[in-house]
Amino acid sequence: LLSVQHLKKAYGDHEVLKDISFDVPRGKVFVLLGPSGSGKSTLIRCLNGLETIQGGTISFKGKPIDGSEKTWRKLRTEIGMVFQSYDLFPNLTVAQNILLGPTKVQKRPKAEVEQQMDKLLADVQLSEYKNAYPRELSGGQKQRIAIVRALTMNPELMLFDEVTASLDPEMVREVLELMLGLAEHHMTMIVVTHEMEFARRVADTVLFLENGVILERQSGHGFFANPETDRAKAFLESMA
Ligand code: ATP
Ligand code: MG
Repeated sequence: LLSVQHLKKAYGDHEVLKDISFDVPRGKVFVLLGPSGSGKSTLIRCLNGLETIQGGTISFKGKPIDGSEKTWRKLRTEIGMVFQSYDLFPNLTVAQNILLGPTKVQKRPKAEVEQQMDKLLADVQLSEYKNAYPRELSGGQKQRIAIVRALTMNPELMLFDEVTASLDPEMVREVLELMLGLAEHHMTMIVVTHEMEFARRVADTVLFLENGVILERQSGHGFFANPETDRAKAFLESMA
């Protein structure tokens, strides 16, 4: 579904991603792990066209992406992204937040999108908050709404960058459970997380980054049972 070949990203003369290559098949979950500053967020941002790249190619559904803003605008309806900070519009209700992209950008009929929204909200047990404003929701509820909003675009790929990092511990689980459900339904996902137990359960493949290179790539089970490099071993120990 997604293919990254020899991706390079630099800020000025600081090379943040160096020759990154990997392929994400449809229906698979890739987890990006690595120490702070290793380039995980930068990589995720490159995959959603939020960063210009200095080398290599990113292909989606077999086609190399030309990098123009017009192309990325279209692709962002197929590649959903959820960040650490809740990016809901504060002046819009939950329903208005969710309906905006599908009706204004994708120009789908409102009734159809509303039906889909109602189903997704029921799935995450947030139907009663449809007309609430983001400030009336807990952090965990906001993050689940942000995920529902992305899903209502019917993305083929979802990118998650530490979506539970600013949540209180009791709210982390409800968000992770939603993501586990997506994985069970074969959503293709690339996930940056510091939740190792979740990573172990969800990862088909782990990419371990350090200093902008993929130091290790393994199946999820392989990585957690038997990290190959000393760096990955030390990382897992530090997270335990
Ligand atoms: P963390 O686990 O702390 O979130 P990360 O793996 O996501 O770390 P990135 O945020 O991708 O790391 O940062 C990788 C490197 O790129 C860091 O050295 C960082 O200082 C640098 N960097 C990130 N964003 C910018 C920017 N906008 N301008 C300049 N340098 C940047
Ligand atoms: Mg980051």
